[in-house]
Amino acid sequence: MSNSIRSILHLSHPTLRQTATPVTDFKNPLLQTLIDDLLTTLRSANGVGIAAPQVNESLQIMIIASRPTPRYSDAPEMEPIALINPKIIGRSSEMEKGWEGCLSVPQYRGFVPRHQSITVEYTDRTGTKIEATFTDFVARIFQHEYDHFLGLVFLDRLESESDRLTAEEFKIMFPDTENNQSLTSANPAPSHINC
Ligand SMILES: [Zn+2]
Repeated sequence: MSNSIRSILHLSHPTLRQTATPVTDFKNPLLQTLIDDLLTTLRSANGVGIAAPQVNESLQIMIIASRPTPRYSDAPEMEPIALINPKIIGRSSEMEKGWEGCLSVPQYRGFVPRHQSITVEYTDRTGTKIEATFTDFVARIFQHEYDHFLGLVFLDRLESESDRLTAEEFKIMFPDTENNQSLTSANPAPSHINC
């Protein structure tokens, strides 16, 4: 297994504004290397999701790796999964707003509307076709990563300017999200994702 940490592009990079292409060659060993690198890069960045365009590979590959961390203590724990060429086949009409960050947009947080649940078809790293329904936090991660395939980021999904905070403002408004877990807050900090 490769253990390469790839550098994560920032939003000014044109790859993050391109449409990602589907994977066609499932036998290419570089596909497994790229997935391993995405897993390693995501773990080292302490994120819960990453999409291949974020490491300058304009391909439809994403990792979802929800787990509770100081930043998102309510997140469900799951084994990281790689989704290749995912297609959305169903969406709840119900929308929910939640805070998001992005490894490619470290200076902002956004309060982003997403479908509460989403049903997808994808191919896993062994080439097996899978159908799955994701809800709540995991559905949010999926929709965030899927946007990276479309050349979009969470800032493009905001309903209003007031739903965008700088990382500094976010820390002031929700001081117990990051390191200060001893606060027994009447105003609990929201979980938010960083993908
Ligand atoms: Zn992102």
